Amino acid sequence: MKKIVIVGSGINGLVAANYLVKEGYDVTIIEKKDSTGGACIKDSIQIENKKIDFAYGATVLGMMPDFIFKETGLVDKVEGFYPKTPKLVYFQGDNKTTKIFQNHDQLEKELREKWNEKGRISDFRNDENKVINFIQKLYKEAISPSLELANQILGKELTSMWISGTAKDLLDHYFTSDKTKLYMGMTVIESGPASIYDPGTAFTIPLMDSGSVYDGYWGYVKTGIWKITESLTKINSDLGVKIHLSSSINEVDAFNNSVSFVKDDKDYKLNYDHLIFATDPVTPSNLINDFKNEKNNLDLIGTSGKVTAFFKNPVRWKESNNYSDSFRFIFSTDTLKDFEDASQNALKNSGDYFPGFIQIYPDGSAQRTMGNKENYDKLIFFTKNLSYNKKANDLEDIKKKIVSTVLPYIENSDDLVYSKFLTPKDLNETFLFPKGNIDHLTMTGNQNFDKRTFSSQSSNFYSYFDYNNIYYCGAGSFPCGSVAGTPGYMCSKQIIKAIKQ
Ligand SMILES: Cc1cc2nc3c(=O)[nH]c(=O)nc-3n(C[C@H](O)[C@H](O)[C@H](O)COP(=O)(O)OP(=O)(O)OC[C@H]3O[C@@H](n4cnc5c(N)ncnc54)[C@H](O)[C@@H]3O)c2cc1C
Repeated sequence: MKKIVIVGSGINGLVAANYLVKEGYDVTIIEKKDSTGGACIKDSIQIENKKIDFAYGATVLGMMPDFIFKETGLVDKVEGFYPKTPKLVYFQGDNKTTKIFQNHDQLEKELREKWNEKGRISDFRNDENKVINFIQKLYKEAISPSLELANQILGKELTSMWISGTAKDLLDHYFTSDKTKLYMGMTVIESGPASIYDPGTAFTIPLMDSGSVYDGYWGYVKTGIWKITESLTKINSDLGVKIHLSSSINEVDAFNNSVSFVKDDKDYKLNYDHLIFATDPVTPSNLINDFKNEKNNLDLIGTSGKVTAFFKNPVRWKESNNYSDSFRFIFSTDTLKDFEDASQNALKNSGDYFPGFIQIYPDGSAQRTMGNKENYDKLIFFTKNLSYNKKANDLEDIKKKIVSTVLPYIENSDDLVYSKFLTPKDLNETFLFPKGNIDHLTMTGNQNFDKRTFSSQSSNFYSYFDYNNIYYCGAGSFPCGSVAGTPGYMCSKQIIKAIKQ
């Protein structure tokens, strides 16, 4: 029986384990921490003696392919939904939101009225859907991304605009108003300070909508998103996956195909036929004994932070309170130039915080909609752009600034009882992300699409450099981070194919 060892039990390690154990292989996961889940875990606090659980890292679900949700068995264990109501956007100073309707005609009308947009919303959405269909085909069939294939399927024009082009050119092609460009293009800097002028950054825009578990939208999981990794751990254990927690790897002997680690003060050595790193992309190079290659100049910087705010009564929005489950967005810049400057300033570390946008996820309201009673309401403020220099404990003033950007939109802001802040530096320490990037590796153009690989061989996309039985499938590989498991799935398919050949 083929022996597979997987390092790391985040969503990607768990998804890879699920597909490989179902092929009949002997699968073992080695995890450094005392629990599985990686960045998709819960945290809990007591406020006035009442406990509440909340998402520690990842918060909302959207990028997972529906077939992974079904085939892993998660579909029978996890409940959730996505809001059909419009998303709501505030530019600073606006009292009224702009509504991002799912219907193209309604959206076109709204953006024309509110942002004086004279461009081509429907064409943008239609072309984006063509690109998304292409990306989803790569996922399902576990096909390595390549420009050649993109050219064949999408044609040269769409490929150069949507895949190899700059986000700036893509946005300028379809839209006239900077506000529309900011809203449609904000995901380019969602994890880190990618420049919108960088070739290859256009691709991040369709990428972030390429999940299918919620039809390309983002939504919620009953209880919390950690139910995904918690349930998958249980499913995998029932299928026979062995999991070693609190295990510290000393060395990977790539010559003799073995991993040595210490757990509870005891030494262990596991032999493998295939070894998968479902970790951050820096860890394998530190552990493999004869590792010589080095992919130089990795862009690892993250600039995202998160505030979780707890309210003693359900939040009442001053505007559109009936859309209580809708995501809201507050932009602090209203030109592309200011947006780019704020993001690049965080990269240069020239201050602690450069307000860009705050995405507000009303998880507490969504929990009520799903029938989950909790002691407090909670809002999550996913925030840009924080420099990679300080921990939240040293940035109390910045937390206050973020919170005070949101509170004016809330009727009962006095009900806020507690808030918890995480900066990129905290993400490094808490989740072992090398420089705090939630995608492990910044989504810059030279680390996007066909370049988001460490493999020396383009046909074996998830191979780690030129090792023929060591792989990398963490968030730093194609397509990107998020609670999706797509890299884990695609990597497992590559291994299954290699074993069967
Ligand atoms: C604040 C924040 C908000 C986010 N928001 C969202 C969101 O709303 N929606 C979404 O989809 N995504 C979100 N993300 C991104 C998402 O959480 C990650 O991209 C995803 O969880 C990464 O999964 P992974 O399996 O690749 O890696 P990880 O989850 O990072 O797992 C890697 C695992 O490897 C282990 N490991 C590392 N080194 C070793 C070693 N030497 N030996 C053994 N084990 C090791 C780690 O302990 C960890 O368990 C967010 C992330 C953060 C931090």
